[in-house]
Amino acid sequence: MSFDTLSLTMKEWKAYLDRIGEKPYRAKSIYHWLHQKHAASYDEMTDLSLSLRERLKKEMPLYLPKVDQVQRSEDGSVSKFLVRLSDDKAVECVLMDYRFGLSLCISSQAGCRMGCRFCASTLAGLERSLTAGEMLGQIYTVERYENCHISHVVVMGCGEPFDNFTQVMRFLTMINDPDGHNMSVRNITVSTCGLPDKIREFADLKTGVTMAVSLHAPNDQTRSRIMKVAKAVSMKDLMDACAYYAHTTNDRITFEYLLIKNLNDSKADALELAHLLEKNLGGQSPSGGKLYHVNLIPVNPVKECGFDRPSENTIRVFKETLEMCRVPVTRRREMGSGIDAACGQLRAKTGRTDRHTNPSKE
Ligand code: SAH
Repeated sequence: MSFDTLSLTMKEWKAYLDRIGEKPYRAKSIYHWLHQKHAASYDEMTDLSLSLRERLKKEMPLYLPKVDQVQRSEDGSVSKFLVRLSDDKAVECVLMDYRFGLSLCISSQAGCRMGCRFCASTLAGLERSLTAGEMLGQIYTVERYENCHISHVVVMGCGEPFDNFTQVMRFLTMINDPDGHNMSVRNITVSTCGLPDKIREFADLKTGVTMAVSLHAPNDQTRSRIMKVAKAVSMKDLMDACAYYAHTTNDRITFEYLLIKNLNDSKADALELAHLLEKNLGGQSPSGGKLYHVNLIPVNPVKECGFDRPSENTIRVFKETLEMCRVPVTRRREMGSGIDAACGQLRAKTGRTDRHTNPSKE
C-alpha cells in the first residue's frame, strides 16, 4: 500500500526533518499547514524556505483528493461528492447539514469485498484499501471545496473499515490530534458489517469512537439472505463480540437495520430483533440507558439488487413494535435517496470506477 504524505504523524515528520538536517520544530508548521489549513501544495507554506519547499515537493509528494462530481439534494442539505485519489480510483463522500453541524460520511476502501446484497459499493468488488491520509484527505478536500468546517465524521461510505483496520485506526488517532483537525472522538462513528475479532480489538483500544453495526436481520437465516458475511459469521459470534464491546467500553452500540420489503420487515422480525438485543445486550450502561440503539433505514433500492422498500405502514408497525418492547429506536432521516446517496450508488453509476467495472452497469 502506498504511504502518502497526509498519513504521516507529527512524530514521523519530526524524524524525517531531523534526518534531512532541518529543525524538527518545522514539523509543527508543516503539520498545521497540512491538517489545519489543508494546503494543497507546498507553495502555500510561505513560512518555509524555498529550498525546503522544493525538497519536500520531491521527497514528500502531496496529493489531496480531487472533486470529480457533486450532486446536491433539492433543499441543499445533502451533497454527494465523487472524489479521485492519486491513482484515479474513485470514492464517495456525503456531506450532511444537521442542526448540530456538518457531518461527512467518508469511504475507507475503493469498492468492498463484503458482498452485501443491497449495496452498490460491492458490485465490482474491492479495488484497494485507502490510507489514513486518503481518509483525512476526503475531509480536507470537502472543507476546501465548500469552505466549511466539518464537525462530525461517519466512516460509513464505500468499504468495510474493519477490513482496513490498521489504516482506519491511524486515521482515528490523526483526526483526533489537537495539532490536526482536533475532532472529538464523540463526533465520530465507525460502521462495520460485524467482524467479531476486529470488534474485540476495537473494544480493547477504548477509542471512545461510536461503533455502528450493520445488522439488518434478527437471525442467521434472514441475515445470510442479505449479507454474504453472515455465512462466515454467525449471529451468536457477532452478538458475543458486541456484548464484549459494550461491557469493555461501556459505550452504546448503534445497530443499523435496513428495512427490505417482505424480507426482514414483519412484526415477527421486530419481536425477534427486540429479543435478540435484550438477551445479549440487556441491562443498563453505568450512565443509565441501554447499551444498544436501533437505527431503522428503509432500503434505498439499487437497480442491480432487486430489493424494495416496505410501505410506510409496515415501517411504522415495525418501529412501534420495537418501541413496545422498550428498544431505543430511531428512524434515520433519509437525506440522500434522490441523489444516489446510499453507499456506492454514485460511484457505481458513473461506471468509471476502474477497469473491473462491468460496463453493463453504466
Ligand atoms: N461496511 C460498513 C460500512 C458501509 S455500509 C458496514 O457494513 O456498516 C454502511 C451502511 O450504508 C449500511 O449499514 C446501510 O445503512 C447503508 N446502505 C448501504 N446501501 C444502502 C442502500 N441501498 N439503502 C440504504 N442504505 C444503504
